[in-house]
Amino acid sequence: MAEVAAGAKSGKVVIRNIGLLLSGDIDKPILDADTLVVNDGLIIAVGKEKDCDLEGAQTVIDARKTCVAPGLIDSHVHPVFGDWTPRQNQLGWIDSTMNGGVTTMISAGEVHLPGRPKDIVGVKALAITAQRAFDNFRPGGVKVLAGAPVLEKGMVESDFKEMAEAGVGLLGEVGLGSVKAGYEAKEMVAWARKYGIQSTIHTGGPSIPGSGLIDKDVVLEADADIIGHINGGHTSLPEAHVCELCEKSSRAIEIVHNGNERVAIAAAKAALDLKCPHRVILGTDGPAGSGVQPLGILRMVAMLSSIANIPAELVFCFATGNTARIRKLNCGLIEVGRAADFVFMDRAQHTAGKTLLESVQLGDIPGVGMVMIDGIVRCGRSRNTPPATEIPVVVSGVH
Ligand SMILES: [Zn+2]
Repeated sequence: MAEVAAGAKSGKVVIRNIGLLLSGDIDKPILDADTLVVNDGLIIAVGKEKDCDLEGAQTVIDARKTCVAPGLIDSHVHPVFGDWTPRQNQLGWIDSTMNGGVTTMISAGEVHLPGRPKDIVGVKALAITAQRAFDNFRPGGVKVLAGAPVLEKGMVESDFKEMAEAGVGLLGEVGLGSVKAGYEAKEMVAWARKYGIQSTIHTGGPSIPGSGLIDKDVVLEADADIIGHINGGHTSLPEAHVCELCEKSSRAIEIVHNGNERVAIAAAKAALDLKCPHRVILGTDGPAGSGVQPLGILRMVAMLSSIANIPAELVFCFATGNTARIRKLNCGLIEVGRAADFVFMDRAQHTAGKTLLESVQLGDIPGVGMVMIDGIVRCGRSRNTPPATEIPVVVSGVH
C-alpha cells in the first residue's frame, strides 16, 4: 500500500454490511448496527444502513459481513525513534504491529535508546524530543504516544511542570531509573499527576540486567495511575501479591504479553471477581528481550478469552475502550465523535470456531482483513495474521 501523505484527510467514508460491530465499551460490547459513517477521520454516524446518510462518500467499504472493532491499543511499548528498535535491532516493527490490528501505542519509556541520558536535563530533553518526533512521524499511521521520562533521583516539582508545559503527558515505568523506593516514587507520581502527566509503575522482578525489583508494597505506596505489567515483565510477583494489588489498589490493571502467562490469567480473573473488569488493559511490553510481537495484543485477547474463559467480546474491550478511557484517548470506542481507527477481522481460515468470537474463545487468533486509522485504509489483508476467511473490499474510493 502506498505511503499516505502526512496530514491527508479521509473525506467522507462509509463502511457498510458489517456483520459484527464491537463497541469497545465493556458495559455494551456488541452494537446493533451494520454501518459506520466517517468524515475527515472522525465517526459521524453508527447505525443501520437505512438510517444513515450515505450520500457523497469518497470511499465506500463493503465489510462483507466481517467484524469491525475499534483499533487495538497497546498500552505498554518501548519505542526509541522512528520504526526501529535497537533492543533487537529490528526495522519496521511498528508497521508490522499495525498489521496485527494495533492503531495506537503508548510508550512506557524510551529506555532502549543507546546511551540514554540519566542526568535530569538529559531526561527532560529526551522526553520532549521523543514526544515531538512521534507526533511528527507515524509509522504505518500508528499513533505512538511517546516521550515518557524515566524517573531519576533529584527530580523536583518544577521539572514535572516544565515537561507538562512542553507537551509531555506520560511517565516511563517508575522503577526503571534510580527512583525505586516507594516514598520517592510516591512524591514524583503525585507531582506528575498534579500537572496532568499519567504514570505507570514497573511491577515485579528486574526485566534485564540493570533494572530492579518493584514489590507490591512499593506499587501500593507509589500509587501510579497504571499498575504496569501486573503479571511481571517477565518475572512476576507471587500470584497472591498480584491479587492483593488488584484488591487494594483502584488503579488500572495492565496485563502484558511479555509477562508471566499464568499470573496474567489470575489477574484477569481477580479483576472479574472484584467486579472491576473496566480496570483491565493490555500491552505487549515490547520491544524487549522477548523480541517484538506484531500479533501480541491479538494473542493476549485469545489467551485471556480461551484460558481465563472470558467472553471474547469483553476481552476486546480490555484492548480498546478500557485503555482509551483510562488513558483519556479519543479512540478505542465506536461512538460519534471518536477517531475512525478500526480493525476489520474475521475468523481465521480453518479455525474450529464457527464464528469470529467462538474462534477466539477456542484460543485461535482472528485474521485481520483491513486496518483503518483516521478513516484512511492503512493495510488490507494483514501480512502477519492467519488469513481471514472473508475480507472487506473498497468498492469505491482512491485510497
Ligand atoms: Zn517493566
